[in-house]
Amino acid sequence: MAWRSSGSSNAALVENLWTNGLLTSPAVKAAFQRVDRAHYAPSAPYEDSPQPIGHGATISAPHMHANAAEALLALVAPAPAPAPGRRPRRVLDIGSGSGYLTHVLAELAGEDGVVVGVEHIEALRDLGERNMAKSPEGRALLESGRCRFRVGDGRKGWVEPSPREGVPGVGGHAAEAPGAQQGADAGGWDAIHVGAAAEELHEELVSQLRAPGRMFIPVGGKEGWDQYIWTVDKDADGNVTRKRGYGVRYVPLTDVPGAAGGRCDYDSDLYYE
Ligand code: SAH
Repeated sequence: MAWRSSGSSNAALVENLWTNGLLTSPAVKAAFQRVDRAHYAPSAPYEDSPQPIGHGATISAPHMHANAAEALLALVAPAPAPAPGRRPRRVLDIGSGSGYLTHVLAELAGEDGVVVGVEHIEALRDLGERNMAKSPEGRALLESGRCRFRVGDGRKGWVEPSPREGVPGVGGHAAEAPGAQQGADAGGWDAIHVGAAAEELHEELVSQLRAPGRMFIPVGGKEGWDQYIWTVDKDADGNVTRKRGYGVRYVPLTDVPGAAGGRCDYDSDLYYE
């Protein structure tokens, strides 16, 4: 199924994903059309398969990106302007790797949304940022602060320092203005995407979800077996439900490779999502 969707251009790939029912949301389709995978995948960008991006990581296959974006869409796309309680979207992409999905999520989050990509390998943080800077639209996202790439251990989520602490690229954006920091979950996330397989449903991540909020996270065996997509929903009252979905095979969420006492089990022979 997956391979049938490959195309000779970004437009052809997106059309094939659509025709094969692997992409079903018009909003996600439009975002896919606006982001050229060739800026993110170093090889075979229009094939519906994962590709290596170095450091044992892969850019996930287009059908997986489609699936993740569609699963999170309701919490990423902004509510129409006069909706009561509407506030700018805040989206976290853990294990941002190539930066492709980070860009797609930023396209979906609208003009006042903020998307933060977190990588534990600095070179991959830089790669995501470099890839995004290849297009004028990507550069605008970076320059405005609507999209940011950070280095950190994604298992702990991410708490963005306040603009008053002088973090470059953060100040001045509406979503980070002092007024926007008020409220119990002002610094939390409407949607969290995790692009690597966690060993558990980290409570720290659940606690960083806004109410309402949603997380898409592969969880399971580090050898690549018994991994499943879990969707964690927090409703407006803060009640959490966890739902197990389909089986997958993702690169594991690990300690930084080579770190003192660190552990990393990347296996380049495995087929990843
Ligand atoms: N969404 C990315 C997927 C990259 S593969 C893409 O499609 O391009 C998974 C990524 O998770 C790798 O880049 C890896 O470096 C990162 N990763 C693994 N463990 C991590 C951790 N503890 N914290 C942050 N990132 C991590």
